[in-house]
Amino acid sequence: QDAFVAFHVDKVLVNKYLKPLQIGELAPDQPSVEPTKNKMLVKDFRELRATVEKMGLLKPNQLFFLLLLAHILLLDTAAWLILLYFGTSLMPFTVSLVVLTISQVQASWLQHDLGHLSVFRKTKWNHLLHKFVMCHLIGASAKWWTLLHSQHHAKPNCFQKDPDIDMHPFLFTLGKKLSVELGIKKKKYMPYNHQHKYFFITLPPLLFPTYFHYHTFYVAYTKRYW
Ligand SMILES: [Zn+2]
Repeated sequence: QDAFVAFHVDKVLVNKYLKPLQIGELAPDQPSVEPTKNKMLVKDFRELRATVEKMGLLKPNQLFFLLLLAHILLLDTAAWLILLYFGTSLMPFTVSLVVLTISQVQASWLQHDLGHLSVFRKTKWNHLLHKFVMCHLIGASAKWWTLLHSQHHAKPNCFQKDPDIDMHPFLFTLGKKLSVELGIKKKKYMPYNHQHKYFFITLPPLLFPTYFHYHTFYVAYTKRYW
């Protein structure tokens, strides 16, 4: 139930599609909480959610997002103008790079909120702007991100379920249990006992410029997102 509430913006609409799937009601003596879950914790969580909703914390401030988009467009234009007016020598190139980096990082947060359908009340508008920011300003597939990011939020930090941590055991290994398991199997591609040292120099160049570029095209091609 909590996952359903979290994943669906328009509950009335989704309920319409759910009706034909209903096969019956639980008998009053049947437990309504999943046996693996702590009843108190579930109650606590629902109370917290109700409070957050009542405080209006889930209501987006559209002016904030408008200004966010405006400053991304402004920085994008500035980065381009710097190169146009000052040429491509080291100094203008570096300044343009810094400006573009800020704009791209901001755009990736904006696309995240749009992809979560959290900016507009209408899903259609969120999708439309998501495509604009992700596809046109960042240059990646919006559907690729949605596919992977939904899996990430459905099972956060679960090995082999959450694609965000699915780089193992290629470059890094995660957690005490898994690392020991790999050690026993002697399945080793990198010196994982030193991963805390090579993490900073390998992850930034490999994740965004290399892996994401390859993966967005790979998923868009294999899933036929066109
Ligand atoms: Zn998210």
